Amino acid sequence: MAPDLYLDANATSPVLPSAIAAAVEAMEASFGNPSSSHATGLRAKRILDTTRARARRVLGAGPGRVLFTSGATEGIQTAVLSALVAVRERRAAGEDCGDLLVYGATEHKAVSESLAHWNRLLGTGLTLQPLPVDAAGRHRLDVLRDLAPRAAMVCTMAANNETGAISDLDGIARVLRASGSKACWMVDCVQALGKLPLDLANTRIDYAPFSGHKLHAPKGIGILYVRDGAPYTPLMIGGGQEGGQRSGTENMAGIAALGAVLAALEEGTTFHTHAELAAMRDRLAAALRDAFPGIVFNAPFEHTLPTTLNVAVPGVSSKDLLDLFDAAGLRVSAGSACSAAKAAPSYVLDAMGLPLWRSGGAVRLSIGPLADDAFVDAACARIRRCGEALRTSPLSGGHPGVMQVSGDGRHGWIVFDGETCVALDPPPGQVERIAALARDAGLRLADFDAAECATVALDDGSHAPCMPIGGAVLARLPDGWLLGEAQEGRLPRTAVRQVFGAIDATRLAQIAHDGAVICHGTDVDGLACATVNALRDAGAPGQLHPDALDVFLRRHADALLVDVRETGEAAAGAITLHGRAAHHVPLSRLAEHLPAWLSDPARPIVFVCRSGNRSAKAALCLRRAGHVQAWTLVGGLALA
Ligand code: PLP
Repeated sequence: MAPDLYLDANATSPVLPSAIAAAVEAMEASFGNPSSSHATGLRAKRILDTTRARARRVLGAGPGRVLFTSGATEGIQTAVLSALVAVRERRAAGEDCGDLLVYGATEHKAVSESLAHWNRLLGTGLTLQPLPVDAAGRHRLDVLRDLAPRAAMVCTMAANNETGAISDLDGIARVLRASGSKACWMVDCVQALGKLPLDLANTRIDYAPFSGHKLHAPKGIGILYVRDGAPYTPLMIGGGQEGGQRSGTENMAGIAALGAVLAALEEGTTFHTHAELAAMRDRLAAALRDAFPGIVFNAPFEHTLPTTLNVAVPGVSSKDLLDLFDAAGLRVSAGSACSAAKAAPSYVLDAMGLPLWRSGGAVRLSIGPLADDAFVDAACARIRRCGEALRTSPLSGGHPGVMQVSGDGRHGWIVFDGETCVALDPPPGQVERIAALARDAGLRLADFDAAECATVALDDGSHAPCMPIGGAVLARLPDGWLLGEAQEGRLPRTAVRQVFGAIDATRLAQIAHDGAVICHGTDVDGLACATVNALRDAGAPGQLHPDALDVFLRRHADALLVDVRETGEAAAGAITLHGRAAHHVPLSRLAEHLPAWLSDPARPIVFVCRSGNRSAKAALCLRRAGHVQAWTLVGGLALA
């Protein structure tokens, strides 16, 4: 399998080698506590002072405070706390501070959640007011003009983490000035460090939080800039570190590492320039256009960081795109990393007024300023391979093939051979997709009811209309379908392979044997298909941990390794583990292959997928059908 290409730099970034070296030095030779007055402490203090001085220069902090924090989330808490405590004090002194907490509608959740949290905790009773953005993701200055006179605090980010949209900070400052607003202004600068020029002391910005890990420093270290004269209340009180402004023994390894990153920024040769990064972005965009005709870019490049691309492909969900990229070893994310695990559409793209298919189907590719041409070449080649893989039809092989098509929690089934396919009870939202799958595979989509049908006799003495497909027959019952091998006008129960629909249990026992596979219309006990005689309480299938796989495969030379990822994923990157190439059967084709696997119950089958979820389902299905040698690779390829 090809090595990872990491295009998720807006989520986090690998630590710069010089930063690792600085952190190690701070943990070994200079391990002291910077508050100690002996030489060991003084050596640590020198790292603290040098890093702060660098941060001052890089941020253009002037006389403002520069504090080390655990990251941007802490910096945001501190800024919000400081601003709201000041509001309380000014109000107590009879001053009108406004009644709104204005925040950009596309802010990171750390901002809106902190505003709500501290407003509640401090009892300030202000109203949270999202500031809308335009279609490019930039704040609506006309709306801000109306809100500014009532704002107690304004929070706007420098650049958005999902889209890379760069805010018009000068425009915001002009509106605030023109309205005479006394509101504290926080600008979340997390995505700006190393990518946008910073000269904070020459702006109206009161607070600017940063996170080191977004620019090649480790996680757990950040900076908060506070304008000289802006209200300040410490979030943490204790031993008086950071001049009493942020107590707690400093994260010296993190500070030393951040110092190395700041040194690289100052020195100016480590990171690529805006123009170089823009050229790389253009090449990635060209590869994406080649790979996915119809692709849309969710934020115009004119106003975005050159390091971020947010895209959607018509007809392809963000989950499917992510799986495809992942199979090709391209690590990207759906929207923000924090929400990547949740399948909700992006609130950032919703706020930009994009249609649901673009916000629900969004994928973000983000590179860091360390990326080079060789990396971009490799990423472009893999993106193009993903495009080809997506065009690989899942309706191939199998005579007849059986594929599950799901949508809105319902399952429909496609039965097909090399010429024809029939859709059985498709979920309404999947009808178009099935037609497209048939078209792309060059198959005729047959309408069973309109077809000239023969009839076949069943073991309960009844007759059912049927059509031939892939050397078998598909028979229609009032409440479902049977697929199996007919023999001289009969479909004996022992020859039924798959059953579709909710057929009455008594009748089912007469017309299908115990090992036939029932293909459900919705999940039953967590699975889309099961054999008639499946044991719900068969217990969990075998759990194979990645470090035991090698030994297992050596011990079981006959073991079958089965890749259950979908067709595009397998086409984007085939699986070979410990020299054994995996046989590919997508989870959506499990019902088709179960009968063959069940006919050889002693042969171990190890299911593999990306993260271990789909393989666990496949193994459970086999286990319930009585196959005691069904295994799942725990954690999937990600840990293998
Ligand atoms: N603000 C923005 C724009 C971010 O991208 C992030 C992290 O994703 C944060 C704030 C929070 O940063 P951290 O989790 O490092 O505290």
